Order: sequence, then structure tokens, then C-alpha cells
Amino acid sequence: MAAEEGLLPGLITRAQSGFFTVQTERGPIVCQLRGRLKRPRREADLAAVGDRVSVRLVGQDTGMIEAIEPRQRALSRRDPRPQGFFEQVIVANPDQAVFVFACADPAPRLRMLDRFLVTAERQELPAIICANKIDLVGLRAARQIFGLYERLGYPVFYVSAKTGRGVPALRKVLLGRLSVLAGPSGAGKSSLLNAVQAGLGLRTREVRRRTRKGRHTTVVPELIPLEGGGYVADTPGLKAMGLWDVLPEELDACFPEMRPWLGRCEFNDCTHIHEPGCAVMQAVERGKIDPARYESYVSLRLGQGE
Ligand code: GDP
Ligand code: ZN
Repeated sequence: MAAEEGLLPGLITRAQSGFFTVQTERGPIVCQLRGRLKRPRREADLAAVGDRVSVRLVGQDTGMIEAIEPRQRALSRRDPRPQGFFEQVIVANPDQAVFVFACADPAPRLRMLDRFLVTAERQELPAIICANKIDLVGLRAARQIFGLYERLGYPVFYVSAKTGRGVPALRKVLLGRLSVLAGPSGAGKSSLLNAVQAGLGLRTREVRRRTRKGRHTTVVPELIPLEGGGYVADTPGLKAMGLWDVLPEELDACFPEMRPWLGRCEFNDCTHIHEPGCAVMQAVERGKIDPARYESYVSLRLGQGE
């Protein structure tokens, strides 16, 4: 960013009621948006957690956001307004989503994972799966559960927060990146973050508690810095964030294994559920598409997803 006199570059790590915490080389600075940046008619949030900004110091640790860098991408939801859709930005510039599921205790709900993956595909966010608690079932059984996703092309990390197995590889993939973390409660997200970096899980728990306590439950997560670079955004759950805005006709393309068959069905508005001459259903019958994944597709398409 242009190093204008007196301007500090930084990253928004927290946003609440018009106040933004910006992480800079001088530490965190609490800022407001310069008035001229607030245009009355706009289609998306102007500033959000994850945005890179320039700050002018006003006091010791307070300042004004003078400029916002263009966003590379965003994790966002479409908020219907009378004048059209408004894009509510949940996290700006995320690099990846990390979905944490336990191999056991609680048993992994793969239909929920499928739904998370569809959301990531819809948002064009690279997804990583973290299969935790391998100490409970062993690596071989863990691979039987999650191997399907490796074959689909999603990186799967087999880890145990308890024994530390696989944790260095997970740490490596988090370093230097902005990761959005999600998964059912009890999967071991806090424990894993603690294993990645001492105290990290505790910080996210604290943030979660504070987020829940507020009068307006915020869906916007706080970015927690990693030693060595990078940030983790622990989300209260993609569903709680209202991210589920995939249109029925967009759904098939959010299943990577279906893409080669799309456009080959007899009807070009095929829903791949009951139509004759459906290339997707034929691929399922011939074992080219996993039946459980197809089942996820059908239940999501019929609006019976979790
Ligand atoms: P969160 O709700 O996703 O943040 O999950 P927690 O980190 O609070 O973990 C839920 C429970 O699972 C706790 O009792 C943890 O001690 C336990 N746990 C977490 N990771 C592991 C693991 O790798 N192996 C085993 N056996 N238990 C774990
Ligand atoms: Zn079809």
C-alpha cells in the first residue's frame, strides 16, 4: 500500500458496532472509518475482518481508517434487501477453510461435512479436512471414513490433539494463511488449536463466549494471530452464519465429482433425482460417484439437509 506520510498499514482483526481493531506493527489500534469512505449506496460491507487498511493515528492506540485495499475474495452471505442483495462480508480475504471432524466421540456426520464442503465450493474457498481423534480409532479406520474425500481431491489431515500426531503438518498448513475454522462442537477444535500453539484454543473459547454474550449475537469472527504469521478465524458454525445460500440449480456444480457429467443429461434442466437419461444417476450406478455423496446431494437439493 502507498506509504503516505503518517499512515500505518494494518489488518482488521475485529469489527464491532462501527469500531475496528486493526493489527499494525505498533500493536492493535482501535479505529473508526473515515467519513468519506462511507458511501450511502453500496452492495457490500465496506470494511470487514480480514481487510487490509491504512490507519492514521489519532491517539495513543486509537485511529482512523483512511483507506481500504481492494478485497481479493470474501466469505460472505447474500442478505436480501428491498433494493436487491447486499453482500454481508463475514471474513475478507480468507485463504482456506479448515473443517474439523472427530473420527469418533462424537461420530462424524459426513452429511454435515458435505454441506460444509458445498459452502466452500460455492464461495470458491479451498477446503481442508481435519480428521481429529485418530487415537480413538487408529489411522486405518480413520482412512476408511475420510479416504473418500482424499479421492475427491480435498486434503485430509489425520491428527490427534491428544497425542500430537499430525499436528506439525496442520501447523504448517495454517502458517502464513488466513484460515476459517469450522466443525461441530466436541470435534476438538479448541484442543487442536492449543496443540498447534499454546493458549490458542483458550483464546478462541474466550472469543466465542464473548461473542455469544453480546446483545446482538455477532456472526463475525475475530481473527486470532498465529506466532510465525497467519490468522485463524474460529466461526460459530457456517449454518449459524447463514452462509447457506446455494441456489438449487447451483448445487450440482458444488460437488466436484459431478462436474464431468453435467451437461450430459437428456434434459438440460435435469435435477439428477428422477429424470430419465440422467448422466449423473448413471455415474452413480456405475460406481463413478459415491452413493453417500449422491445421497447428500439429493437431500440438500430437496431441502432436507442438516
Ligand atoms: P470443540 O468443541 O470442537 O472446541 O472441542 P474441544 O476441543 O472442547 O474437545 C471436545 C472433547 O474432545 C474434550 O473432552 C477433549 O479433551 C476431547 N478431545 C479433543 N481432541 C481429542 C483427541 O485428539 N483425542 C481424544 N481422545 N480426545 C480429544
Ligand atoms: Zn441429470
